Amino acid sequence: MFDLLGRPLRNLRLSVTDRCNLRCEYCMPEDDYVWLPREDVLHFEETSALVDVFLALGVDKIRLTGGEPLLRRDLPALVRMIAGKPGLKDLALTTNGVLLADQIDALRAAGLGRITVSLDTLRRDRFLKLTRFDQLDAVHSGIAAARRVFGHLKIDTVAIRGVNDDELIPLIEYGRSVNGEVRFIEYMDVGGASRWSPERVFSRSAILDALSRHYGAIVALDEPGSSAPAERFALADGTTFGIIASTTEPFCRTCDRSRLTADGMWYLCLYATRGVDLRAPLRRGADVEELKGIIAAGWRGRADRGAEDRVALGDQRAFVPVQDLLRKDPHLEMHTRGG
Ligand code: SAM
Repeated sequence: MFDLLGRPLRNLRLSVTDRCNLRCEYCMPEDDYVWLPREDVLHFEETSALVDVFLALGVDKIRLTGGEPLLRRDLPALVRMIAGKPGLKDLALTTNGVLLADQIDALRAAGLGRITVSLDTLRRDRFLKLTRFDQLDAVHSGIAAARRVFGHLKIDTVAIRGVNDDELIPLIEYGRSVNGEVRFIEYMDVGGASRWSPERVFSRSAILDALSRHYGAIVALDEPGSSAPAERFALADGTTFGIIASTTEPFCRTCDRSRLTADGMWYLCLYATRGVDLRAPLRRGADVEELKGIIAAGWRGRADRGAEDRVALGDQRAFVPVQDLLRKDPHLEMHTRGG
């Protein structure tokens, strides 16, 4: 099934909670938030029923996210319900890693396929400043556990000028030591990133300059047909890393991702301000065909190119006008719809 720009429906990011146990300054900088009402959060059976419909329409990759997905009680039970479904080729999890060491064996046993851990700094003081919690050791334990159980992992790092742009090389070296491929993400002006400014974006080209000054020639890996957000590169010794240049070089043209929030709102773009309510039809007893019709109509009408539209706005703050709205509608927050 294709949208108006010929992009297939393939990747579903499933946010299982809007709660988080960190307060990263680029994602959840405020002191308090409006949370999704608990009674609106889908039960696992409901999420699983929606996943069946998405799989029937062509989704074959699912990533569990949040908020912090490991805060959702008994997440392995959801993994178990989803992992074996026909048509699913890839089931991944994005986590801040704080609770990972305790849950990893159960997640693996339930059928989770792979793990990405978000980590922006290796310095304890900086981690505390950036996230407001002194949990760097727990993240290291989570990463060690991921390596033990899966053999390898991905490490996602938001590169912010003046915050951690001096740690790209230590992070690459750390990644190497734990068999983790680091992916540097450009700081995005998305809902919730109320401290974003263009000067704070450490761009793809700045990242490549900094790394090539230290490591010498960097080779771009040719991955034709890839819809992955990260462009991958290799250092001379074969170490690979990625860059997700959502801010300076968006990849809307190949974006096959959509997002389901914990309360069953479906967003066709990370920047979309309106979503499709799937909880209401599900709870009033819509059958599979009706749900398929709603999702198919949504995808076939999709023309979103949110990150490209954001570039076209230049240095203006796109999300400033919605800061008040964020308070009223938690769905606009990155931590609700999943990064
Ligand atoms: N709590 C989990 C985690 O930390 O990975 C999953 C949710 S988090 C919202 C998903 C990803 O979005 C994280 O890697 C986070 O760094 C990234 N993210 C959040 N706000 C961002 C922003 N303004 N720009 C770029 N990436 C951002």
